[in-house]
Amino acid sequence: MKYISTRGGTPEGVSAAQAIKQGLAGDGGLFMPESLPVLSTQMLQSLCDKTYAQRAAQILGMYLTDYTEGELLADCTAAYEESRFPGGAAPLAPLSDGKRILLELWHGPTCAFKDMALQIMPKLLSRALKKTGEHRTALILVATSGDTGKAALEGYRDVDGVKIAVFYPAHGVSRVQKLQMATQEGNNVFVQSIHGNFDDAQSGVKRIFSDPDVAKRLDENQVFLSSANSINWGRLVPQIVYYISAYCDLVKNGTIRMGERIHVCVPTGNFGNIFAAYLAKRMGLPIDRLLCASNKNHILTDFLRTGVYDRNRAFYTTMSPSMDILISSNLERLLYVTFGTEKTAAWMKSLQKTGSYELGQAELAVLQKEFSGYFCEEEQTASTIREVYADSHYLCDPHTAVGVGAAKQYLDQTQDSTPILIASTASPYKFAYDVCKAIGTPLPENDLAALHVLHDVTGTPIPAPLADIERRTVRFEPEAAVEAADMLQSVSGYFGIR
Ligand SMILES: *Cc1c(COP(=O)(O)O)cnc(C)c1O
Repeated sequence: MKYISTRGGTPEGVSAAQAIKQGLAGDGGLFMPESLPVLSTQMLQSLCDKTYAQRAAQILGMYLTDYTEGELLADCTAAYEESRFPGGAAPLAPLSDGKRILLELWHGPTCAFKDMALQIMPKLLSRALKKTGEHRTALILVATSGDTGKAALEGYRDVDGVKIAVFYPAHGVSRVQKLQMATQEGNNVFVQSIHGNFDDAQSGVKRIFSDPDVAKRLDENQVFLSSANSINWGRLVPQIVYYISAYCDLVKNGTIRMGERIHVCVPTGNFGNIFAAYLAKRMGLPIDRLLCASNKNHILTDFLRTGVYDRNRAFYTTMSPSMDILISSNLERLLYVTFGTEKTAAWMKSLQKTGSYELGQAELAVLQKEFSGYFCEEEQTASTIREVYADSHYLCDPHTAVGVGAAKQYLDQTQDSTPILIASTASPYKFAYDVCKAIGTPLPENDLAALHVLHDVTGTPIPAPLADIERRTVRFEPEAAVEAADMLQSVSGYFGIR
């Protein structure tokens, strides 16, 4: 299977290993497989009797054809083992109405769904370096507003041929998130707080990436830059797995019959997770509608309702920060598979120039056959957390609550009886302070105290990776922030790059 750019610059295509190593295509587009593999009913049936790791290896194998079955099975088995995902990789939790079923994607080492891809992708990259004859070390640079940085650190720690540096705004992440990163273990990791906000960190990383002198100097040190964010195909393909796996589990537990359709609802930021669900549908998984759930930053809802994508608007900070995004990068992949290279390249050019683009009526109608957009204001997110806890004795984090609220809007509108699978993207304990506020516990002093308040009030267990966070050794002092302009200097110094 070859991979080509969404903007048409690589017509000859590259291998999956090359696409994963490179991240972004040379023309600025995103890599996509030249065709989509087909999931037959027979294959779906046979997956039902397998473990999560076996299902993952088989589905990854349909896309990553330059990796052997043995390699994929070994990597998936190691990535999704019980010690890393206690309670299972992607278990189901039905709400009391029986129609909405949560797909819990947060049982990994950092308690958010990014682990589902970031536990396996580093292994795929490590093999990609060998497959492409790469002798240099890959240096992964990540700017994070919280979740991605920690998940990437956990995924890449002690991986052969790779070093990772994560930058976060000193005053832009929660205490729990700060401690999660500051106490990171591993021989190849570096964490640095910076003065400024997330955009300063992000711009700093982009500047390093786009400087040819930096690339040359790193090359002399046998180092090249690579990225871990969701524009990399290696992060997307593992996300297809859990939708197929969840379908098998719904068949096995009797919620649906094989072949019966379900809806899938995904709390969305960068459009990576929901696009993986769309790919599962295109492969043949019986999915009817895709419900795209946004928070107060509802640029995607507006797009799916009007066909206009316009980022010239106010940006809001919400209690679901991982969805506070105005440029949903992976939307480009949807436009490409639906409308082709030429139109996609033109829209992306318009987005770059004016901050907006507009689909024609016919094109909008094509997307509306598959997708519906809904959004929740902050008040609905909080009331959803409260209601779900009252009705189902189930705690959802604010991101998940946006999904549950969106699914409710859809049900109220349609009275449809099709089961809805809702992606649950973070542990409620990762955002314990806002969850406490929503369900009306005594107000905790800070977000560390909130872990204990939530536990005391609800009797649910604090996930192990968060439970001992106060007792771990701080390796990367959060107070030692540097200016964004000095990011390269700090990482070079740490890793001994001249
Ligand atoms: C990243 C993230 C999302 C958004 O996922 P996308 O793939 O960017 O759409 C939603 N919820 C949580 C908790 C996340 O960390």
